[in-house]
Amino acid sequence: MILLHDIISLRTQVSKWHKLLVALVPTMGCLHEGHMSLVDIAKQKADIVIVSLFINPLQFGAGEDYAAYPRPLATDISICKSHNVDAMFVPEELGQPQTIVKAGKMADCLCGQSRLGHFDGVLTIVSILLHLVQPDIAVFGEKDFQQLQLIRKMTHDLHMPVQILEAPLLRDNDGLALSSRNRYLSDSEKKQALALSQSLLAMHSLAQQKNNSISAILSAGFAVLATYNVRAQYLEIRDENLQLAEHIQDGCRAFIAANIGGARLIDNMPLK
Ligand code: AMP
Repeated sequence: MILLHDIISLRTQVSKWHKLLVALVPTMGCLHEGHMSLVDIAKQKADIVIVSLFINPLQFGAGEDYAAYPRPLATDISICKSHNVDAMFVPEELGQPQTIVKAGKMADCLCGQSRLGHFDGVLTIVSILLHLVQPDIAVFGEKDFQQLQLIRKMTHDLHMPVQILEAPLLRDNDGLALSSRNRYLSDSEKKQALALSQSLLAMHSLAQQKNNSISAILSAGFAVLATYNVRAQYLEIRDENLQLAEHIQDGCRAFIAANIGGARLIDNMPLK
């Protein structure tokens, strides 16, 4: 596996791949099986898989966990090697851009509402990575569904020559969505964190029955949260364009964010 730490060596390497199909998997490291499922999809579709590892300061707000974010670099490198990743791009920094990609109105809800400017930071760095690596394909997880849709919109609006592929959300056996931030949780907080997936499951099962209204389905979700003593930052049902759903229809999902201990966790589930 080739390890690239700076833009010049990345560009040199990218130019050697010009006849090959390249897939990029952008990450912030602290890799887990969820990330590796993206790598597996990339490997099926492309000749070369490059994983970027960059903890993007632009997407963290004041008082968020930028400094505390786990950085187990040696482990991340060996995980990538064991999954036959071709190259890792691990830059120290990517400059301090004054030119910012402004996320469109799909960023006005959910995480975009509680983390102001977060998605502008994400899109700015993703667009820098896409320009540097010039991949044919880039893979993102449905774990961050709002981010995935905003990246799709950006690449479409800005005519970026890349195909965006999505990877399904991967969970632990107990249902907890895999996340680098699960490391912040104590054992008892891990149990409490099951509130997120359990409330989504309760909503999913009600949504399978005909004639249940959105408000009845949401109430079932909130009732589960109450049994875990968890207050959601948001719990909403939206369609795939992130408009509030008025009834259960194809493509609609339940979205949740909640603070458990020191961790802000997110999850989502298709309802139909
Ligand atoms: P992160 O390192 O958290 O920025 O995540 C990098 C990529 O991995 C993003 O596209 C995430 O959506 C994706 N990802 C993170 N956790 C999961 C998961 N549990 N299942 C699927 N994809 C995930």
